[in-house]
Amino acid sequence: MSQDMENRRRQVLIVDDEIVNRLMLGNILNSEYDVLYAGDGLEAMEILHAQSNRISCIMLDILMPRMDGREFLRQRRNDEKLCMIPVIVLTSEVGSEVETLDLGASDFLKKPYDDEKVILARVRRLVELTENRRIIQSTERDQLTGLYTKQYFYEYVTQQEYYSPGRLMDVVVLNIEKFHLVNEIYGRVYGDNVLRETAAAIRRNLGDQGGIECRTDGDVFYIYLPHQEDYNSLRDRLQTSLDTQFPKARVRLRIGVCLMKPDEDIEIERRCDRAKSACDTVKDIYTSPVAFYDEDMQQKSLLSMRMISEVESAIEKRQLQAYFQPKFDITGPVPILCSAEALVRWNHPELGMISPGAFIPLFEKNGLIQKVDYHVWREAAAQVSAWKEEYGVSIPVSVNISRIDLYDPGLVDKLTGILKEFDLSYDEFYLEVTETAYVGDEKHIVDTIMSLQELGFHIEMDDFGSGYSSLGMLTSLPVDILKMDMKLVRDICRSRKNRYLVSSVIKLAHYMSMRVVAEGVEEKEQCDLLREEGCDVIQGWYFSKPLPADQFTRFIKEKKQAEGKG
Ligand code: C2E
Ligand code: MG
Ligand code: MG
Repeated sequence: MSQDMENRRRQVLIVDDEIVNRLMLGNILNSEYDVLYAGDGLEAMEILHAQSNRISCIMLDILMPRMDGREFLRQRRNDEKLCMIPVIVLTSEVGSEVETLDLGASDFLKKPYDDEKVILARVRRLVELTENRRIIQSTERDQLTGLYTKQYFYEYVTQQEYYSPGRLMDVVVLNIEKFHLVNEIYGRVYGDNVLRETAAAIRRNLGDQGGIECRTDGDVFYIYLPHQEDYNSLRDRLQTSLDTQFPKARVRLRIGVCLMKPDEDIEIERRCDRAKSACDTVKDIYTSPVAFYDEDMQQKSLLSMRMISEVESAIEKRQLQAYFQPKFDITGPVPILCSAEALVRWNHPELGMISPGAFIPLFEKNGLIQKVDYHVWREAAAQVSAWKEEYGVSIPVSVNISRIDLYDPGLVDKLTGILKEFDLSYDEFYLEVTETAYVGDEKHIVDTIMSLQELGFHIEMDDFGSGYSSLGMLTSLPVDILKMDMKLVRDICRSRKNRYLVSSVIKLAHYMSMRVVAEGVEEKEQCDLLREEGCDVIQGWYFSKPLPADQFTRFIKEKKQAEGKG
C-alpha cells in the first residue's frame, strides 16, 4: 500500500433527519473519519450510489421521513455492492434492536450517545472486521465468474456436510468441450464471456437448491447439489443457455456425475475426482454428454491406482518383461528374419498377463513410463547381447520411445549408456518413435530425435498413417525407417484406393532412402500384396505373435540353419 493510501481517511456516512443528532455524532467521528451526512434514506441512497466503494460504515437512524431506516436496510440488503457496507443503527426506540439486526444491521448505538471513546471503538472494530471479510472474499471467489474457488468450495462443502449430515448430495463436474478452440478461434475475451455465462447459467438453474458451485482450472466447474435422478435435463438447460448466448461458437457441455450413496462416507475431493473421471469418459462423445461414475469406472480406477503403486516393485521383480516380435525381410525370394521389436508385457502374479495398452497410456500421464521404458530398453539390449554370445548372430532389436521420454534431458545419455553397458553398436539397437511424437510444432522434440540420429541411432517412425502426419512432413523429419500403421495394412486388400495409397507411401519412402516396414500383417494375401508393392520388411501375426525371449530363439535357430544351408 502506498504512503498516500495509508494516510487517506476512511469515510463514514451519518443518516439522520435531526440536524442536532447528525452534528453531535459527526463531531465525535470526525477525529478519525471523513464524515458525510444524509437527512433520510433516499438521500443516503443517492450518496451511496455515487460513491459506495469509498464509504466504510453507515450510521443509520430508524425514524425518518421519505425513506425510513427499515426500508433503507431492506433495499441495501438486495444490492450487491451496498450490502458489503456495514450499518450501525442509531435508535432510541425500545425493542427495535433485534428487528434491525435481522434486516442486516451489524450493530446499534443507543441515543442519547455513550461515551465518545466507546462509539469510536465500535466503529473502528466494525470497519476492521468488514475489511478483513472483504479480503477473505476476494480469495474465496473466482474473479472471472464470481463462483467459489476450488479451495473454498471444498471447505464449504465439508462444513455443510458436517452441519447437515445424512443429506443426499451429488457432485457434478461440468466441462466445456474443446474450450481451448473457443479461445483460439474467437479470442480470450469471448472465451471469458463463455465462462462467465456458463457460471451464470449454473447459478440461474441451481441457485435456489442449496448447492455450492465453483470454477476450478479453466473450463472445469464443480457443482455440489441435492441428489436428483435426471441430469440430462439439467445439462440440456445449461446447453440451451449457452446456445442462445453464443449461437456461432457452438459451445458443447459435457458433465460427469458422482451420485452419493447412502452410508457412503467419502471426502469431497474424491467425489470430485470420480465425477471428473466420469466426465472424461464422454469427452468428444457428442451423442451422450452425461456420464455417471459407476462400478466399472471404480474398478478401472482401482486397477490404475494398483498398477501405479506396484509398477516399481514389478520392475524389480522382473514381472515386466520384454517380449519380442520378429520382423522379416521380404525383398528376397524367401522371407528372412532381420530384426525384432521389443514389446513390454506385465506378467502379474494375481492379475495375469497385462498388455501394454492397459498401462502405457496411464504411465505416460504420470511420467512412470520413463522407468518402464528404461527397464525394457535394458532387457532388450541384454537379450541382443545374449543371443550374440550364444548363437553368434546379431539380431537388431527396436525399442519403443514414448513421447514423454523425449522430454527427458538425460535421454541421450541413457541410450548411449545402454549400448556401452551391453557392448552393442547403433546397428543392433533401433528406436521406434510414434508418429504422434513428431506432430505439433515442438521443435525441441524433433531436435532430440535429430541428435539421436546424428549420433548413429536408426530412427523408425512408428504407426505412420494412423492419422496425424502427412507425407509432406516426412521430407523434413529425422526418420530412417517408416513403419506403416496396421490400419493401412489392413485395408490394402479391401480397396484399390488403399492399395494405391500404400504403394505411394512406399515409393515416396524409397525415394527418400527410407526402408518400409509393414506392421500388423496377419494374412498371406496382405504379405503378397505388400511384397508386390515393394515393401521391405514385415511384422505381424502372419509370421509370429510377440514371444518371450526363450521362445524367440526358435527363429534364430531357423535363421542359422538357413544360412548354414545357403
Ligand atoms: P506398436 O509399437 O505399434 O506395436 C505393435 C502392436 O501391434 C503390438 O501391440 C503388437 O503386439 C501388435 N501386433 C503385432 N502384430 C499384429 C497383428 O498381426 N495383428 C494385430 N492385431 N496386432 C499386432 P502391443 O504389444 O499390445 O503394444 C501396443 C502398443 O503399446 C505398441 O504399439 C506401443 O506403442 C506400446 N508399447 C508396447 N511396448 C512398449 C514399451 O516398452 N514402451 C513404450 N513406450 N510403449 C510400448
Ligand atoms: Mg512400436
Ligand atoms: Mg506401431
